Amino acid sequence: MRTYIIEDEFHCNICGRYASFEDALNELRRWAKLPWGDGDHVAPCQSWRTCHADYIVYAEDDSVPQEALPKAVYVLTLSARGAEWQPPYDKTLNEAQ
Ligand SMILES: [Zn+2]
Repeated sequence: MRTYIIEDEFHCNICGRYASFEDALNELRRWAKLPWGDGDHVAPCQSWRTCHADYIVYAEDDSVPQEALPKAVYVLTLSARGAEWQPPYDKTLNEAQ
């Protein structure tokens, strides 16, 4: 079964697993509206207030070789300064589904 992982690549922190790329994007859209530090998306380090998170989404699927899966997509950076979306974040994994 294919699942979609949100990882904070900056901290190598896996933040959640979702049934579809769209589900993962919706979760990131939700996090992007929350104040930094509010909710479950905060950076895991002691200096999180001045730190940031670089969220990528990638697929995992036991039934196909890793190299056959679409590349990870850099979607969003969150920090106290707000959300910085990284277009065309909504393209690659969608097209590969
Ligand atoms: Zn940090």
